[in-house]
Amino acid sequence: MRATPGPIDRFLADLHARLSGLTGGAPATYIPELGKADPALFGIAVAMVDGTLYTAGDAAHRFTIQSISKAFVYGHALDRLGREAVLRHVGVEPTGESFNSISLDEAHNRPFNPMVNAGAIATAELIEGDDPIARQAALAALMERYAGRRLDLDETVYHSEKATGHRNRAIAWMMLNSGMIKRAPEEVLDLYFRQCSLLVDARDLATMGATIANDGINPRTGARALAREHVPDVLTVMNMCGMYNYAGQWSYEIGLPAKSGVSGAILLVIPGQAGIAIYSPPIDANGNSVRGVAAAGEIADAFGLHIFGTH
Ligand code: GLN
Repeated sequence: MRATPGPIDRFLADLHARLSGLTGGAPATYIPELGKADPALFGIAVAMVDGTLYTAGDAAHRFTIQSISKAFVYGHALDRLGREAVLRHVGVEPTGESFNSISLDEAHNRPFNPMVNAGAIATAELIEGDDPIARQAALAALMERYAGRRLDLDETVYHSEKATGHRNRAIAWMMLNSGMIKRAPEEVLDLYFRQCSLLVDARDLATMGATIANDGINPRTGARALAREHVPDVLTVMNMCGMYNYAGQWSYEIGLPAKSGVSGAILLVIPGQAGIAIYSPPIDANGNSVRGVAAAGEIADAFGLHIFGTH
C-alpha cells in the first residue's frame, strides 16, 4: 500500500461509506453455509496492471470464490485444448436464464456458455490431469498463478454444497445422458464444488482480474496464467454472460466484462488497466451482490469506464 492516501483511495473510501448504508437483498441460503455470512460485510479492491492495489472496507475478509472461478477454469480449458475443441463442449451464447437453469442448447447438444452452472460443470471436466488428485492439483496451480498465492479450500462450504447440490447433480446427469460429459458425474461435480469453495479476499480477486487485464500475466508475480490469445475469449464471454440474466442490463449500464458469484462477490475487468473486486454478501434475485452492482455502476460512471462509452 502507498503511504499517503491519494484520490483513488479517497474515492473508494467515500463510495464505501455511502453504499454501506444500502440495504436490500440477502445472502444466498441454498448453500446453507453461505446463509451464515454477515450481511454488513463490504469490501472493495482495485488492482492495477502495474501492481498497485487500492482497497476500502473489508477487503481482507475471505469468502468462497463461487462462480467467479468459472472464468478462470474456462481460460484453462482454452489454453489446454484450444478454441475449437472447447466449443464442442460449451457454447458462447447468453441464456437469459438463471445461473442454475437445467437446460442445454439442443441445437448443438451442449451447455449455452461456461458462465452458467451447466457450462461450468462441463468445463470442470476439461481440467488437466489423469486422475482426481492430479486434476485438483492442476486447479490449485491455476488459481495460484492468478492470485499470486495458494488458495485454501473452505472445507465447510465445500461439504455444505456437496451435501445439498442436487440441482447441479441433475445438470451433470443430464449432460452424461447427452454425452456432453464422459466421466462419472459425482467426480466432475466434486471438482466443480472444490473450485467454487476456494477462499479469496477482494485483494486476491482484484489481482486475478488484473491478471486477465494484463494480457494473462499476474502483475505482481510475473507468472502467466492465461495465454494472451485467449484473453479476448474469456473477456467476451464474461461481458456477455458473466452476470447471468442481468448480463444485458449490466452491459448496457456498466459496460465492463464481469463475473459474479453467489457468495456476494463481483469481479470486473478493465482490459489493459485493472481488476476490480467488490464483496458484499446480500444478493438480488439474479444472484448478484446488491452493493456490488451499485458500486460497480458508480465506479464505471465516475471514471468513464464503459467500453463503448465516448472518450
Ligand atoms: N457453487 C455455486 C453453484 O453451483 C455457484 C453458483 C454461483 O456462484 N452463481 O450453485
